[in-house]
Amino acid sequence: MILYNTLTKKKEKFDLINKNNNKIKIYACGPTVYNFIHIGNARPICVFDVLRRYLIYKNYDVIFVQNFTDIDDKIIKRANQENTSCKEISEKYIQEYKKDAAGLNIMPATVHPKATETIDEIISIIKILVQKKYAYVSDGDVYFDITKFKNYGKLSGQSIEELESGARVEIGEKKRNALDFALWKASKPDEPYWQSPWGSGRPGWHIECSAMIKKHLGETIDIHCGGQDLIFPHHENEIAQSECANNKILARFWLHNGFININNKKMSKSLNNFFTVREIAEKYGYQPIRYLMISSHYKSPLNFSDEIIKQCQNSLERLSNFRKNLENLEKINNNNNINLNICDNIDEIRNNFIKYMDDDLNTSGALSVIFDMIKDINNKIAKQEKYSNNSIREIIKLFDDLTQVLGLKFESQNKNLTKEIEDLLAKREFYRKNKNWSEADKIRDLLKSKGYDIQDSKSSTNISIR
Ligand SMILES: [Zn+2]
Repeated sequence: MILYNTLTKKKEKFDLINKNNNKIKIYACGPTVYNFIHIGNARPICVFDVLRRYLIYKNYDVIFVQNFTDIDDKIIKRANQENTSCKEISEKYIQEYKKDAAGLNIMPATVHPKATETIDEIISIIKILVQKKYAYVSDGDVYFDITKFKNYGKLSGQSIEELESGARVEIGEKKRNALDFALWKASKPDEPYWQSPWGSGRPGWHIECSAMIKKHLGETIDIHCGGQDLIFPHHENEIAQSECANNKILARFWLHNGFININNKKMSKSLNNFFTVREIAEKYGYQPIRYLMISSHYKSPLNFSDEIIKQCQNSLERLSNFRKNLENLEKINNNNNINLNICDNIDEIRNNFIKYMDDDLNTSGALSVIFDMIKDINNKIAKQEKYSNNSIREIIKLFDDLTQVLGLKFESQNKNLTKEIEDLLAKREFYRKNKNWSEADKIRDLLKSKGYDIQDSKSSTNISIR
């Protein structure tokens, strides 16, 4: 598999650090839990879930760690505004995050560490950095001295001078260089604090990821991922802290996803085009959001609009109908002695899908393989020949395998119905397809007499029980 590595700025062959086992260690920076996640946050969550699913599909044993930043200026501000505690705010939004993540069909991380549960590990890394003189104490704060790390800027590919031009010193910061960053912040009134060798205070943001990686994954991991807005300063600072403390490379591969625009404009609160995942899901459902995120390559910019999300809904409906049609076809096949295969190139389709995914997770290419397959098979179905149930089941299996890698869910239709009702529905569907309306209506009436109401839309049929 080839992945684009932000660190080397090229596509590289991905292989394991430890070739003796099958383990892949991945760390993804998670949300600061002070609000509902917005549509931009959904992108890394979805695309790196696809990365994880694909590696699992390739039989790797993936350990996936994603943090919750549960202490931070924004959380403190929100807690003060709402006259409540930081813990209350962060717990509330962790639960809301989990609802959205479940809706988007994201696999829960192997570990979801919280900053406030990693304080001991954070303090011990800072201690090492102070001891090695990579960090200095200033009036109860502890800062990392970037001039001591000669590789500073290696991830963003910029020199210290270039980076410095955009840096600024915030009021109250007592640091030597503009790019130095806080590892530990002395406590201010009305803020949560922990005891440390430098007095009471709380961790800076960047240090938590270094501490969590070391605690849950070790000193060097296979893949570190996040949004491209995190490259500088967050990931640059993670590298500086971890590599100076451990004398080891932090991550071999760095993957970053591109931005999301709203109607071709940058998303911002001031432009009034800021949408939470929840708002969009309430209007269109979660699955179209997931589909949108995988519809283009994870590194390219992605545009969101009502029209685009509706197109995603249509694409999902095409996928879902394809699966339903195959299930129906299988049910109405009374003759099991048919040898005709509905598809002769299953291996080729699977290999094409893998080829795209192996090329830096080209999910749009992978989707095109699925849609080409649908087109071919629909043409075959239209010929109204009888195909063997085995071959139909094989296609359903292939379809499920590939769509599951992308995290798209297509459940078996009408799961709770009895076999008798399912068969009647499948037969009716068959008659409708063949425009045999009188037979289709007879079955509808029969279902009605059994207590089932049928509603047909252009592309699907819904059944409800009275
Ligand atoms: Zn991080």
